[in-house]
Amino acid sequence: MLPKVELHLHLEGAAPPAFVRGLAKEKSIDISGIFDAQGGYVFTDFWHFLKVYEAATSVLQTPEDYARLTRAVLEQCAASGVVYAETFVSPDFCGGRDLGAWREYLHAIRDAASAVAVQGGPELRGIVTCIRHFGPDKARETALCAAETVGDFITGFGIAGDETSGQPKDFRWSFDCAREAGLRLTAHAGEWGGPQSIRDVLSDLGVERVGHGVRAIEDLALVDELAERGIVLEVCPGSNIALGVFPDWRKHSISELDRRGVRVTVSTDDPPFFHTTMEHEFQMLHRAFDWDDGQFARISRTALDAAFCDADTKAKIAKVLEAA
Ligand SMILES: [Zn+2]
Repeated sequence: MLPKVELHLHLEGAAPPAFVRGLAKEKSIDISGIFDAQGGYVFTDFWHFLKVYEAATSVLQTPEDYARLTRAVLEQCAASGVVYAETFVSPDFCGGRDLGAWREYLHAIRDAASAVAVQGGPELRGIVTCIRHFGPDKARETALCAAETVGDFITGFGIAGDETSGQPKDFRWSFDCAREAGLRLTAHAGEWGGPQSIRDVLSDLGVERVGHGVRAIEDLALVDELAERGIVLEVCPGSNIALGVFPDWRKHSISELDRRGVRVTVSTDDPPFFHTTMEHEFQMLHRAFDWDDGQFARISRTALDAAFCDADTKAKIAKVLEAA
C-alpha cells in the first residue's frame, strides 16, 4: 500500500458499478444490460465499451449526482492508497457547456472533494476536458467555461474523446484560451493515434503532458525527444490492455519508455470499466517488469512533480511520499 499519485482519471469513467446501479434504480432507468453476473461492467470491444460507458453515465444528471459520484470515486482512490488525484471533468456532460450550470456542477464536485480532503482523504484537482469528436466549436465553449472557473480546484485543460476525429490544430484556439487563463495543459494522444498524433499535440497545442502517449515507442526519435524535453506521459497500462492497444502486460511499452528516459507515470483512466485499480496496476507492473518499491516511489515522485497543483499542496503530498 504505497502512497500513489494519479494524474489520468475520468470522473464519470471512475463511477463504481454499484453506485451507478443505485442511481439508476432511484431514477427508474433500466441499464441492467451493461453489467455481468458479478455486477461489473461488461463489453466486447472498444465500440461496445463506448456504448456501455454512455449508458452508465446517463444516470448522472444533476450537480448532486456529481457530488455523490465524487465521494464514491475518492473512496475507491483512497482504498488503493491514492493520496493525490487529478480528474477530467467536462462542461459538456455537466450542464451542456452553459456557464451558469457548469458553475453549479463544479461547486458540487469541488465541495465534495474538499470535504473528503479535510477528513484526511485524497486531494483532488480538476482538469476541464473538451471532447474531440464534438468538434472545435463546442471545444471553444468548453474552454471558455474552463477559463471562467480557473482556480484552486480547476487547474488544467485537456482534450479527450475519439483521437481519430479531426486534427489537434483545429483546437488551438481553445488551448490558447485555456493557457492565457493560467491553466496547465495536457492532451490524449498516442493511444489510438500513432507517433504523429503525439508530435501534433506537442507542436499544435503546446501541452506539457500527454494522456497515454504509449505509441511513441513506434518512433525512437520521438522517444528521445520526449525524454529530452521532459514531457510527462500519463500511462494507463490496464486500460491499454483491456482495449487491445497492447496484447498483454509484458508487451506494454511503459517499461521501455522508462528505460529510455521518458518521464512515465501510472494511472487507471476509467478503472471499473477495465476491472482495475491503482493497486492492481502496481501489482501487474511488478509482475510484468519486476518493478520494486524504489521504482514505484520514483514513478509517484514524477507524477507529483508533473501535477497541476499549487506548491503548498505539492509540498504536503511530497511529505506523505517521503514518509513511506
Ligand atoms: Zn483517458
